[in-house]
Amino acid sequence: MRFHIITIFPEMFDSYLKESILGRAIASKAILVKFYNPMSFCKTKERVDGRPYGGGPGMVLRPELFLKAFSKIKIKGRASKDGARHDFAKSKTKIILFSTSGKKFTTEYAKQSAKKYTDIILISGRYEGIDARVQKILKAEEISIGDYVLTGGELPAMILIDSISRQIPGVLGKYESLEEERVSTSEVYTRPEVLKYKNKNYKVPKVLLSGNHRLIDEWKKKTKEI
Ligand code: SAM
Repeated sequence: MRFHIITIFPEMFDSYLKESILGRAIASKAILVKFYNPMSFCKTKERVDGRPYGGGPGMVLRPELFLKAFSKIKIKGRASKDGARHDFAKSKTKIILFSTSGKKFTTEYAKQSAKKYTDIILISGRYEGIDARVQKILKAEEISIGDYVLTGGELPAMILIDSISRQIPGVLGKYESLEEERVSTSEVYTRPEVLKYKNKNYKVPKVLLSGNHRLIDEWKKKTKEI
């Protein structure tokens, strides 16, 4: 899977993508992450944002710079012989633009995306957002990661990369460790069996020590959240 991220703050991704499972996935080439910065198309003294039509506080990201950044994205093996532009609509490429009013991102969306696409383009906004014509021209799907407003689309992009990547066979240590491949719960325990904290004992639920996998799975199903 190749992720192409259009953002004016690519450095924000550095530490997150370097560590742990995603770091290994990048090193093993299970995933590839590329950045395209609209700022690099600003001429000297030009701004990346402009005042909003209709008034109001906050600035709007300029469409031409985002479209220029988009035009630099090359999708492997898909260019037509006559040199015509890559047809994103016909390829296994998905274009996503982060928006507070977009369709809600879910694990099911992540699973389907991992199966369907070879390339995912993620467009991150900042300030008051990106000029709406970018979404219209690119026919990008607007995606929200939840009912709250963040300062930018970089965290949403990291969330999508993380969630979609763990659906790609080989990215997790064992493919079987995917939530949906087994009965899984967010209520998990490790040693010690009895944890002493401020004169109180906190015990691991008995069923988890029973060795009875049918009962353990039943208990996990009851405590499972999603
Ligand atoms: N007034 C704008 C609005 O209501 O959409 C606020 C824009 S927000 C400060 C800047 C950018 O962050 C958005 O354009 C979007 O790309 C991203 N963003 C913020 N919250 C988000 C969320 N919950 N899901 C997806 N993207 C989000």
